Order: sequence, then C-alpha cells, then structure tokens
Amino acid sequence: MGAPSSAATVSQAESSTTSFDPDALRDKYREERDKRLRDVGNEQYIEVVGEFERYVHDPYVDPIEREPLTDDVEVLIIGGGFGGLLAGARLREAGVDDIRMVEKGGDFGGTWYWNRYPGAACDVESYVYLPLLEEIGYMPKQKYSQAAEILAHSQAIGRHFDLYRNACFQTEVTEMRWDDADRRWIVGTNRGDAMRARYIVMASGPLHRPKLPGIEGITSYEGHTFHTSRWDYDYTGGGSDGDLDGLADKRVGIIGTGATAVQCVPHLGAGAKQLYVFQRTPSSIDVRDNRPTDPEWAAGLEPGWQQRRMENFNNLVSGIPESEDLVDDGWTDIIGNLLIRVRRGEGDMTPDGLMKTMELADFEKMEQIRSRVEEIVADPSTAEALKPWYRQFCKRPCFHDEYLDTFNRPNVELVDTEGRGVKRITPTGVVVERHNSAGELVEEEFEVDCLIYATGFEVGTDYTRRAGYELYGRDGVTLTEAWADGASTLHGMHSRGFPNCFIFSNVQSGFTVNFPHMLNEQSKHLAYILAEAVEREVTLIEADADAEAAWVDTIVGLSQMNLKFLESCTPGYYNNEGKPSERSVKNGSYGAGSLAFIKVLEDWRAEGSLAGLELS
Ligand code: NDP
Repeated sequence: MGAPSSAATVSQAESSTTSFDPDALRDKYREERDKRLRDVGNEQYIEVVGEFERYVHDPYVDPIEREPLTDDVEVLIIGGGFGGLLAGARLREAGVDDIRMVEKGGDFGGTWYWNRYPGAACDVESYVYLPLLEEIGYMPKQKYSQAAEILAHSQAIGRHFDLYRNACFQTEVTEMRWDDADRRWIVGTNRGDAMRARYIVMASGPLHRPKLPGIEGITSYEGHTFHTSRWDYDYTGGGSDGDLDGLADKRVGIIGTGATAVQCVPHLGAGAKQLYVFQRTPSSIDVRDNRPTDPEWAAGLEPGWQQRRMENFNNLVSGIPESEDLVDDGWTDIIGNLLIRVRRGEGDMTPDGLMKTMELADFEKMEQIRSRVEEIVADPSTAEALKPWYRQFCKRPCFHDEYLDTFNRPNVELVDTEGRGVKRITPTGVVVERHNSAGELVEEEFEVDCLIYATGFEVGTDYTRRAGYELYGRDGVTLTEAWADGASTLHGMHSRGFPNCFIFSNVQSGFTVNFPHMLNEQSKHLAYILAEAVEREVTLIEADADAEAAWVDTIVGLSQMNLKFLESCTPGYYNNEGKPSERSVKNGSYGAGSLAFIKVLEDWRAEGSLAGLELS
C-alpha cells in the first residue's frame, strides 16, 4: 500500500508546490474510511456494567465506610477533576463558603486520578494545561507533565481552595431529583445518601466512562485483563514511569492505538517478553520534544503570565495571529500549518476555496506525519501499516518520540487488522483476520498472558448513561427524556426543566484543544451567575424556553460545515463512530470555535441582565 504520490497530477489551481496528488489522497482517505464504517456505530461497545463492572473498580484506594448523609448544602459539585476543582476555586473566590465536592474516586484528580498507566502525561503544554498555577504558586517540572505530578497538583488545588472540607470521596451519585416546593436537589448516591443542595454543578468530565469493545468471546478470556484507566501495577510491576518488571516473562496484548496506547506502548515494549499491539486505525504521531522547565525562564515570568500564555495558545490553535508563539509546539505548528495560507489570504477566499486551502494544508501535514513513520520504523510493511490515512482532526493528534521506535524492538509486533478490528477473543488469546503473504484472508490467533484494553471512553452514548446517574427535573421528567432528540441547553450550561443545575461539558458549549481553558471560562461564568443570584436575592435560576430554543438553533446552524467534514472522516469518537447525525450535532460543541464561544459568554455577562434566564 504505497502513498498516492505524483507531483505531475496536482492541478495548478490546487497547488504548484505540493508533491502529492490530492485526488488520489481523497480517494485513499475515502477507501480507508469505508473499510472502517460499521452500521453498529456506538453499539459496537459494551457498557461497563454487570459482569464488566470489575473493569471500573478503583484499584488505588482502600474502601472507606461512612453513615449516609441527608444534610443541606448551598452548592454541590459532582466531579473532583479539573472541572469540579475550577468550579470550586472560582466559587470560593466569589465568596461561596458552603460547597460540597462529590467524587467517585478516592481523591481529587478526575481523569488524572484514574489514568495512571505507564507513560501517562498531558499532551498540551503543562504551563497552559495545569490550572491555577499562579494561584497555587507552582511551576511544572517539564514542558509536558507526567500524570503523578498532575494528580499532585489537583490535590494542591483542593487544599489551597479548602475543597477537602465537606468533600465526599468514594461516593457515586446514582440519581438527582428536583424538589420544587423546597427548591432543592436531592442527591442520591451509592452510599445511601439523600443530600440536599440548592445548586448542583455537573462536572463529570467528557471521557470518564471506560468502554470495552463488544468482541465475540470477550468474557471467555482466562488470562489477566484490565482497562488502561485502571492500570494493574500489582500485576505489571513498575509504576507510571515504567519499569514493568512483572511482565518480563509475559506475553502481553494491547487492543487500541489511540492517545492512551501511544503513551503506554513504549513501556510495555520495554517491559514485556512479547508485546502484540492490535491495531484497527493508526494514530498520527508527531514530534513531542519534552524538556525540563528552565528555572531562569520561570523566574522571569510576570504576574498574569499564565492567562496570557493560555490565550496566546488558544488564539494560535484557533487561527488568530499572534506576534509571538509562546508555546511553540506540535499543536501550534499543526494548526498554524493548516491556517497559515488562510491567514495570508492565499488563493480562493470563498468558503469553498477556503475549505480547499485547508484541505491541501492538511494533506501536506499528514504527508509529513507519514514520512516520519517511514523514517523511524525499519520494517517497510510495519511502517506502511502505521501510516494514518485521514485528515488530521478526524482523530486526536498524538505526539510521541518513542512510540514508533518501539516497533523496531524484536519483541514487539504490530498486529494490523486492516481496519477490521479484533475478530474474536478466546480463553487464551486474540484472533484477527488479515491477508497473508499469498493474499488470502486468514484467521490468526495470538496467545497472550495478559490482555489490556486501550479502547477509550464513552462519548456518543446518552449523557446520563455516561454520567452514571439520572436527573429527575420538574414534574419528574428525566434528562434522558428531555434530551431524547439531542441535547437542549442555553450556553451548554442550563437546561429548561432542570433549575439550579449547571452543566460543564462540551455539549453545546465551546471546545478547546486545551480543555481546562474552557473549564476555567465555564467556572468564571458559573461564579458570576451565582454571585448575581445573591445580589438579586433570587434562589431559582432556569433557562427560558425561547432562549434555549434559539441556542439549539445556533448550535445546529453552525454545525453544517463541520458535519460535512465529520462525514468524510474515518470513524471514531469525534464523529459519533462514523455516524454524524442531527442528534449527534445537537450533542456536539459550538461550531464557531472556542474563542467565539468565550466571547458569547463574556458579552452576555457584560450586558448584565442575565438574558435568557428566568429568575425568582
Ligand atoms: P480512543 O477512543 O482514542 O482509542 C480507542 C482505541 O481502541 C482506538 O484505537 C480504536 O480503534 C481501538 N478499538 C476499539 N475497538 C476496537 C476493536 N474492536 N478492535 C481493535 N481496536 C479497537 O481512546 P484513548 O483512551 O486512546 O484516548 C481517548 C482520549 O483521551 C484521547 O482522544 C484524548 O482526548 C484523551 N487522552 C489524552 C491524553 C493526554 O492528554 N496526554 C492521553 C490519553 C488520552 P479505532 O481508531 O479504529 O476506533
């Protein structure tokens, strides 16, 4: 499978400098997408309930016992990750004292509490990714922090803003019911609680419910098995820095090659006797170039530096020119590459022309990514299988300097399934179907002692299924019922029928590469609204029906261009597993980008009337 490449066939209108054939690439991308399209969409995955619940047990904590709670708090925040912590921090700054954090894990950290797999690290620069660095007075050790450091920082935020006080860990919300007479939410949990809260903030995170592939025979496997978000160090030995000495005599299989696998595969390759990496779709792997923080640079930073750096990064990755690229990494480079021609005003500036320009820049970037594979991976057929054939933002771009090289190890084998995915799991291993050297499609079994699922998290399923609890709003209507045809919100934060409930998610809200940036904006917005509620002496806040309908129309209207792009993409969680639809669009983000969304919120606050909210 060679790269479609022919400078001679590039039409002049498309480019005079490219060294590839855009038409051939378009065909190749379509062909690769079509191989992977499945009617089942999200249904191909198994929910981690019943016999699969063991995959989500907390391996990091000793269980605690406590009596059920029925007390009353002002603000109850669900989720102790960055979303909940930022909400708590900004509310504290706004003078809110009576806050309870409710968290399923044994401590703060959210995704960084659960994801402790070897090699876990942030892939957005730590100086813009780790929230509240100036408030806490902390400087990350490296340009990209390791998971343990991020977990420790989360705990530091909890301490600094006094969020451990009254917090409930190891507590999973099971349902929330609105009591209209009392203007309270009654929050039920797996510990028999019936806590009462005037306001609830749902900050459960976008990628928090692990998913498993619905592969035939999955329950028959008799070896050791776990999901990457609950790494079993008792079995593998070592820690988040690697040294997995428990695997020295083990044959290990890992299913999935997304951002998680890209980070842990190098450690598995170094530690295991034999590693099989089962691949359905390769990720794009760009340069990482991590390095220690320069103490001189850190000492010279002026107050306010973090917000300025975050904005500089967010502008650059949104295509807004900046005189300086402060972060200067793969993210600002790839998006800069995509947008540079548009910024320069090169070529046809009509909407169609712009789309074409972006597409060409994308082709160029992905050609670089594919060349990098060839440069690093010695075996030509392995290199060919590791090349991604889709547009850069069809999947989360990855950055790593050891992943590709791992496939040069004699004990590591890439088992490429040619887009089919794993066919079957047996009591002793993994079966795939692929072409042999004679061109015949044959089944092959790979025996493994340990099978690791790097198969990601639920995204496209119902909000309440992902959250793990149901909301019963006004008149007992559930959020699942209210959102049956897709989400319905004002600014992604309020939903009519669910008063005093504030939602933090990507749904109908802004989407940023640097996720905590948006969480911070949402937290500031929440703190403003609750401060206004005190000022205006109101205790009930609810989206107005017309304002909510108008926001949903805006979301749908803005999504049309994006929908076309998503349809052309290889399946994944970005495009509802290859099935983008009106409903998935309603469950998607604000299509004009994060900067425009932040401006909507800022303008709304500046206008000052809390337009679109009913208050009493
Ligand atoms: P992903 O959803 O990105 O990847 C899941 C993987 O499992 C894909 O490679 C998928 O293949 C594969 N898969 C699913 N079913 C099968 C099957 N039946 N047979 C073979 N393979 C299968 O999950 P990740 O946990 O890797 O990443 C999720 C997100 O978490 C990232 O996109 C990123 O946003 C975030 N993340 C961030 C990190 C960071 O900041 N450093 C690090 C890790 C994750 P296919 O592509 O074909 O669907």
